[in-house]
Amino acid sequence: MAAIVHQFMCLDDNFGVLMHDSATGATASIDVPEAGPVLNALSEKGWTLTHILVTHHHKDHIGGVDEVRTRFPDVTIIAPAPDKARVPGADVYLAEGEEVAVGSLRGKVIETPGHTSGHIVYHFAKEKLLFAGDTLFAMGCGRAFERPAQVLHDSVMKLAALPDDTEIYCGHEYTLSNGRFALRVDPENEALKLRVAQVEKLRAAGEATLPTTIALEKKTNPFFRANDPSVQQTLGMTGAAPADVFAELRERKNKG
Ligand code: ZN
Ligand code: FE
Repeated sequence: MAAIVHQFMCLDDNFGVLMHDSATGATASIDVPEAGPVLNALSEKGWTLTHILVTHHHKDHIGGVDEVRTRFPDVTIIAPAPDKARVPGADVYLAEGEEVAVGSLRGKVIETPGHTSGHIVYHFAKEKLLFAGDTLFAMGCGRAFERPAQVLHDSVMKLAALPDDTEIYCGHEYTLSNGRFALRVDPENEALKLRVAQVEKLRAAGEATLPTTIALEKKTNPFFRANDPSVQQTLGMTGAAPADVFAELRERKNKG
């Protein structure tokens, strides 16, 4: 596999993610939550930044872009076409289905409105990598800030349709609190209980709980399981439309 992914922490609970193409040396940063940790990671690895792939306009995802660009003036900045106005100054704006090239690596943009109206994610099919930003988290999903939860549900279901062995990198380390919520709405799920126990151990040791996979999320993420009879039963929504169950899940998670 030509792609090497390096993940590290930024700000309080954001992930920095670099994807390096060993064939050409091209290196992409998925968002830039803050410049310092991204620049440190690049020099630690000896990689030269060639691309920035922006998922959405929130400050904790683009806050470090300008500073990183002054250090790597030739960097190509890719940003969501549906959110041009709020991510100004990018070199390329991409919409649904459009291709992104990082050296020899080829990805495709998937539009995932919900968390923000213009949120996009990057799927590198051959490398089996998904960079999901704040649309999807381990055992959770982003808040539906700018579109109704039903729209975010459609976006999350687009991601659920990707191959099971796709590795998913997300914008935040929210796994433990997501897992505790998941247990409340899916209490009999054995795979979920096991996973939350593993996550407790990882977090106690200060270790990251990402990446995850589509297969693991299908088994343990309640937002992937809005059509599951036991989740529906716990919510008192047996037989309800999955989009409405998803909206109820989102509502309950917002309340903590
Ligand atoms: Zn966000
Ligand atoms: Fe974020």
